[in-house]
Amino acid sequence: KPPIIVRDFAPALGLKPFKLISELMEMGIFASMNQNIDETVAVKVAEKHGFLLEIKHRGDASTQQAAKEKQAKAKANPDEEEVKNLVSRPPVICILGHVDHGKTSLLDTIRKANVASGEAGGITQHIGAYQIEFKGKKLTFLDTPGHAAFTKMRSRGASVTDVAILVVAADDGFMPQTDEALKIALGVKEQQPEKFALIVAVNKMDVKGANLDQVKNQMQQRNIAPEDWGGETVTVPVSAIKGTGIDELLEMIILQSEVLELKANPKAEASGAIIESQIDVGRGPLATVIVQRGTLRVGDAIVCGAQWARVRAMFDDQGKNLKEAPPATPVRVIGWSGAPDSGASFKVVKNARDAEKMAEEEEHRLKKITTTSDAAPKQISVESLF
Ligand code: GDP
Ligand code: MG
Repeated sequence: KPPIIVRDFAPALGLKPFKLISELMEMGIFASMNQNIDETVAVKVAEKHGFLLEIKHRGDASTQQAAKEKQAKAKANPDEEEVKNLVSRPPVICILGHVDHGKTSLLDTIRKANVASGEAGGITQHIGAYQIEFKGKKLTFLDTPGHAAFTKMRSRGASVTDVAILVVAADDGFMPQTDEALKIALGVKEQQPEKFALIVAVNKMDVKGANLDQVKNQMQQRNIAPEDWGGETVTVPVSAIKGTGIDELLEMIILQSEVLELKANPKAEASGAIIESQIDVGRGPLATVIVQRGTLRVGDAIVCGAQWARVRAMFDDQGKNLKEAPPATPVRVIGWSGAPDSGASFKVVKNARDAEKMAEEEEHRLKKITTTSDAAPKQISVESLF
């Protein structure tokens, strides 16, 4: 029997895949994009949308077509080895919004409720990012909310974030910084529509004066109408303080991530982005990095701009020592020559000698620039976060 895959089945019904996934969820089925749906379930869903499901057999025109398309796709990409090694990776999520609308509270609530089992008992470290596990899926959150932290991130072109959560307080509605954050997020979405999702979390639903409809109305005015108003923006009412709606929010993040088909090659040499860095009196320069491609290991040599490191040790947000960090894992790295810039990209090179040489060359180049130009202030942007 041919499989009925969410990805193919949804468009056949005229649905967005995440819509189908959420309908299945309502039926108690937690399916992902590439999952096979039970025939009886498929029949039911089809009926609901006014279709009679007819199962064709292998070798018919549509499966042949699909096979052809797959072949063409593989050919279009010259790096077959890379494609072969791609595996799905956790999403990287950031939380944006107006001051006092509850970004920090939301990050704290999500974290406290979902510390990965086995890591319980660890001491929470604020390293600028953390990873949780929800329904068996890993999610990576950037833990650097607030405009000060965002504007510190320099625009280096490294796109880190897959999902942005725009927090809007249910009593205040959209405020200037909400609009600012939205503008940035929509800009990113325009650049990479298939690789980035925006979710609105309407927070403080517990307060007197909470007005979900008003927020939805404001969303509509801004052309990001919520799903239940005929738009496409996933909107989740929550209370960070009472803890309500948090599971729904996490479920929606997982759904959206499935649609984005986030993949990375864990076998490649590691590269990624710096989330934050500082100089520690005892341990020297520290940097929290997110591995975006490949697997970072203790002993690796890294270069990042004019700084380099031989990874002496890595820690997660529970203070646990890690020997390796696969894609989308945030880790604090020890062993740097100096503090690398947040937002900058790093990559693993052959050995420490090469790393040092490359960093020195970069430093040399930067010095030249500052002595020959007027040392104009560097462009600062929050966009590098995405
Ligand atoms: P941030 O500036 O966006 O990080 O906002 P905070 O997380 O610091 O929250 C600002 C204030 O709103 C704090 O006093 C929080 O206790 C409060 N707050 C945040 N979320 C909620 C909520 O869901 N309900 C209520 N009643 N208060 C909240
Ligand atoms: Mg805050």
